[in-house]
Amino acid sequence: MIRAMPRESSPLRQMERFSFFVGLQLLLAACSALDVPTADREEGMLVLASRSRDPNGRPSERTLRWEARKTAVIIVDMWDDHWCKGAARRVGELAGPVNDAVRELRGRGVLAIHAPSTTVKPYEGTPSRERARRAPFRATPAPLPTSERWGTAWCWPDPKRERVLPIDDSDMGCDCEKKCPIEPPWKRQIAAIEIRDEDAVSDDGQEVFNLLSERGIENVIVLGVHLNMCVLGRPFAIRQQVALGKNVVLVRDLTDTMYNSQRPPGVDHFTGTDLVVEHVERYWCPSILSSDLTGRAPFRFDEDRRPKRGID
Ligand SMILES: [Zn+2]
Repeated sequence: MIRAMPRESSPLRQMERFSFFVGLQLLLAACSALDVPTADREEGMLVLASRSRDPNGRPSERTLRWEARKTAVIIVDMWDDHWCKGAARRVGELAGPVNDAVRELRGRGVLAIHAPSTTVKPYEGTPSRERARRAPFRATPAPLPTSERWGTAWCWPDPKRERVLPIDDSDMGCDCEKKCPIEPPWKRQIAAIEIRDEDAVSDDGQEVFNLLSERGIENVIVLGVHLNMCVLGRPFAIRQQVALGKNVVLVRDLTDTMYNSQRPPGVDHFTGTDLVVEHVERYWCPSILSSDLTGRAPFRFDEDRRPKRGID
């Protein structure tokens, strides 16, 4: 009995399939020759796996796609020295990975704003300082804070929005065995973080807002120290940028806290930092890992010997 040839294997059909596959191969070859962006690395876009928390503290992840040219990275208080020897040591360790992340972002068109509070004077007359000083004034959509703390305007905790911090930093958070005297020695940003001419330097909330407005920047990546103090409270940092309506993320492995592990809640230093990261994710903004920026493993302090961290 002669069966009708199945349609799939008819010579005509086979030829169609062959030419379809050849066409597909040619198209793929052409795409790779032209370096057509793939979903993994979209040209001009930052793809960030952000984590935030609901009011009960439960985490959830969301992928953010931010246009690099509409994004700034703000480097908070990465000074050259600190009154707490332990804090200074950790900033020294953090500086290289911060520089790597900033270099990568700058290369992709993100504006780097260096904000070493109260130490911008040494940068007077440099292109990066002048860029901030000369950005045209733009009125902010909400008033900037007028009260001062530690040499700049300050955004205090907002009891309508957040609970008290999960760590007690009322002793200023020196975690060294022998407590350090509180005598600020910082003079400028730590040298390991490069400041390029195309960057900006400022510790002023209005100047930073002017810089962002001038470029139509809506997205802000915040990193640096210390999360329980300046990374939340400075007039260019998290509370302020959220109040100004920016899309904000914290780089949760490129930060540290002033937390004395002898104080409540009595956890080790790095778990204390994780608790403040959770506070930020719950009440202020999502967080990301630096691996989304550099492609490397997330940063971890040498002294952090925990088998598992809360922030990974
Ligand atoms: Zn100390």
